[in-house]
Amino acid sequence: MPATSALADHIAGIRLVDNHVHGYWLTPGDRKRFENGLNEANTEPLADFDSGFDTQLGFAVRAHCAPPLGLSKHVDPQGYWERRSELTEDQLARVFLPAAGVSDWLVDTGLPGAIAGLPEMADASGGAVGEIVRLEQVAEQAAAAPGDYVEAFRRTLHERTKTIVLLHCYPYEREAGYLAQAFNNVHLDVGLSINHLGARAEAFIARTLELAPFRKILYSSDAFGPAELHYLGSVLWRAGMAAVLSGFVARGQWSENDAIAVADLPGRDNARRVYRLS
Ligand SMILES: [Zn+2]
Repeated sequence: MPATSALADHIAGIRLVDNHVHGYWLTPGDRKRFENGLNEANTEPLADFDSGFDTQLGFAVRAHCAPPLGLSKHVDPQGYWERRSELTEDQLARVFLPAAGVSDWLVDTGLPGAIAGLPEMADASGGAVGEIVRLEQVAEQAAAAPGDYVEAFRRTLHERTKTIVLLHCYPYEREAGYLAQAFNNVHLDVGLSINHLGARAEAFIARTLELAPFRKILYSSDAFGPAELHYLGSVLWRAGMAAVLSGFVARGQWSENDAIAVADLPGRDNARRVYRLS
């Protein structure tokens, strides 16, 4: 389905708010670390027979992250790795973060490791940065507080947040969409899944545009580690939104103007409202 041009142009130009993202690596690493960085679910090193390149995310990296490094699209894994190895992680961040077209990065600093913090993210991207706090961190603080846990959790939650954003919803994005419709304060974040689903991200985006009210869906990359992920989330989201929304327009279900207006909501407007960005 070719994207209608005004809609595709608009989506390509949206200055995104990446509402849930982590830092990029600060220290050099070997190919094994890189391939492990393309895997979210396995906390162990990948098996010897396995490769992070032989995944939807690995294919998406070769398709979309090769050209910004001066390589041809779909370059072979070894060629990609060799070119990547010529640059430091900081240099890679200075290629990929500005290219993401993100105006505001809301950084979850709660994960361990030698990864970029707020100053490095601001410097490499040229965008604005802010810090966000996950509910798990609230739970940890409540557990450490003296007295009743439930009361401490409620108090901490009330002090720190009134809005809930459901993260990492895959494969429950439809359930999350139902909850977003059922509760005023529940929102649905599309991060992580889009990167890891690669060529199937479009189908995921289509499912988020079912029950969830459009003002309850938020874009993020949920990138962590390889700077490619900070860029790839944006590329795949824009391509998926353009394909899905242009499909609605082509079938006469939506007007193109409506599709253009809706694209801004998960892309930036909803996050600006939820996080009160000026
Ligand atoms: Zn995360």
